[in-house]
Amino acid sequence: MDAKFAPLFEPLRLGPVTAPNRFYQVPHCTGMGHALPRTLAALREVKAEGGWGVVCTEYCSIHPSSDDHPYPFASAWDDGDLANLAAIAAGVHRHGALAGIELWHGGSYVANLATRVPSLGVRSMPGREDPIQSQRMDRADIRRLRRWHRDAALRARAAGFDIVYVYPTHGYLLSEFLSRSLNDRGDEYGGCLENRARLLRELLEETREAVGDRCAVAVRFSADGHGEEHLPQAEARELLAALGPLADLWDLVIGDYEEEMGSSRFVAEGALDDRVRAVRALVGRPVVSVGRFTSPDSMLRQIRTGALDLVGAARPSIADPFLPNKIRDDRCDEIRECIGCNVCYAHDARGAAIRCTQNPTIGEEWRSGWHPERVPRGSGSVLVVGAGPAGLEAAHILGKRGFNVTITDAERSPGGRVSRESRLPGLGAWARVRDYRVAQLARMPNVAAYYGGALDAAAVREFGADHVLIATGARWRRDGLGRWHSQPLSVAGAAAQVFTPDDIMDGRLPRGAVVVFDDDHYYMGPVLALALAATGARVRYVTTAGRAGEWSAHTAEQGRTQRALIEADVEIVVNAAVAGFDGAVVSLQCAFTGRARAVTANALVLVTSREPNDALHAELVGAEGEAEEARVIRIGDCRQPSIIAGAVYSGHKAARELGRDAVRGPARPLARILALLRRLTSGAMRR
Ligand code: ADP
Ligand code: SF4
Repeated sequence: MDAKFAPLFEPLRLGPVTAPNRFYQVPHCTGMGHALPRTLAALREVKAEGGWGVVCTEYCSIHPSSDDHPYPFASAWDDGDLANLAAIAAGVHRHGALAGIELWHGGSYVANLATRVPSLGVRSMPGREDPIQSQRMDRADIRRLRRWHRDAALRARAAGFDIVYVYPTHGYLLSEFLSRSLNDRGDEYGGCLENRARLLRELLEETREAVGDRCAVAVRFSADGHGEEHLPQAEARELLAALGPLADLWDLVIGDYEEEMGSSRFVAEGALDDRVRAVRALVGRPVVSVGRFTSPDSMLRQIRTGALDLVGAARPSIADPFLPNKIRDDRCDEIRECIGCNVCYAHDARGAAIRCTQNPTIGEEWRSGWHPERVPRGSGSVLVVGAGPAGLEAAHILGKRGFNVTITDAERSPGGRVSRESRLPGLGAWARVRDYRVAQLARMPNVAAYYGGALDAAAVREFGADHVLIATGARWRRDGLGRWHSQPLSVAGAAAQVFTPDDIMDGRLPRGAVVVFDDDHYYMGPVLALALAATGARVRYVTTAGRAGEWSAHTAEQGRTQRALIEADVEIVVNAAVAGFDGAVVSLQCAFTGRARAVTANALVLVTSREPNDALHAELVGAEGEAEEARVIRIGDCRQPSIIAGAVYSGHKAARELGRDAVRGPARPLARILALLRRLTSGAMRR
């Protein structure tokens, strides 16, 4: 190890336990929770194996009155949950790390759709999205809540956890009590700050009393309060100072969740630094915080300067579960840096297991037996056609497995869509997907790369590789087909300038009055609208969705997307489709009534859907299509246009599974997962 990194590997005492180093995986959602216990336990274990000194669960419900269905959360409701929780703690302990558990009550935020128990609030109010209000808590409810929390803490200790959280932030029940505007109680739990914080203090003291002999007590709390109307900064400071000594560790976040969880498009690395530094001395206890730190030097700086005692990470630990070990073993150039795309978060927000653009193995540790660092050996020769994210990942894994790999691309440099898209405003960090893989390939003597010439079927056949992976990607459609249009859009007149995202990424820019038609609903439409506005074009953004870049609500980017468009004077038209274009007038159609209206524009940009570049594959496999044990396999966007994470996953899977005998072992079909799950949750946990 480079000696300068030694401070990152010093142990740290946290009350009754000791963290073996300063790498701390803070609680983060996985979209697995109680629903996929084995999958979850394996994911957490791999982080510990990779060197994270502390590995925490996601939000862990203490009682059925805190049920976030359909989003899978962890639970500690009764002893039936013990086996699942114990599996997490045991896996983490196997590698010498500490296991943390984030006890949670959702308050009014959750709707308890599965349990149908009334949700509980400091007063009766609507939750996140359902037309259901919470039950106002009376004193008996508060007493019960305290008992549930204590029982859950005892259960956590019985399951083997070392760190037990009290969680008074992110808008859940304890935040409601702390809020000046939501808490309208006239008793000892409402009014002044001391009263509003009474429940938090009680839970802290009771957790300490129940498990503090063996477990550290941690608090996840916002360094700058919860906004002026709820918990102003000054009150947050007062609380940190008053309650500081009651916890063994403070896990500090900030009040603006979209910023805390910000994507690289909008929020830089280390964004929480100033606010955490401003209060860290108040608590007089060790402090951990996050900041999407991916570079070993910035992590070291956090410890060296005393800004933090532990370097917190969620996303960097997802993108590279072995990040700490790579620093320890002087392999920093092998770190797979998070690109800050929030695709991990998006899938949890969809109620699905997380996935990652950079790390295709996350979530596949148990069901597919994929390890983020180890791959099965293989042999033979492989030609990979196309060096976008799918082709690069496939070549990387095949190279690691020991195949003789040749990767080619029609372009003079690798990267495919990642290279093109990372040149768009705000997407620069995405180039890491290419750079990490290109750097790994460069040191493999069994991988040869040839860029700058398209291959046709004859050339592929002539090459004579044992296996061929076709990774030729996809192009944006020029005819408007997508969600809305199943027939080509009517475009009349030779002068009508129609552009696709590929045109713009190739540097062919529309000027003057431009309509960007977004039927894709993710980042591409808004990013192009902003890029064109920055060149001086008068941009009108039209989408069939109800909000700009609607899907990016899942990546915590929608609010900032819409704000950025408004601030750039882009006119936003929602719930409308482009029905036609004659070179001077774009006709729009209301998505609900079909009512037409016309807007003038001299150019139209179509962000609707993509067409796979699968002609080469089709020619090679012939009319019958790809056989089951195929020699020619298509991967990535040329098989199924998707997000970049989909292309990387597809390339990884094909490369792992090539020569199936080597990998047949642990892959588990869905039916088997569910059967095991039923056994597991019925209490028969055996490893
Ligand atoms: P994916 O996301 O599936 O990896 P990309 O569109 O990012 O797909 O990358 C596909 C790559 O394949 C592009 O860089 C493109 O230049 C390359 N390509 C397409 N057709 C050929 C071909 N016939 N020969 C070599 N390279 C090709
Ligand atoms: Fe980082 Fe994106 Fe992976 Fe999430 S999905 S960990 S943001 S690279």
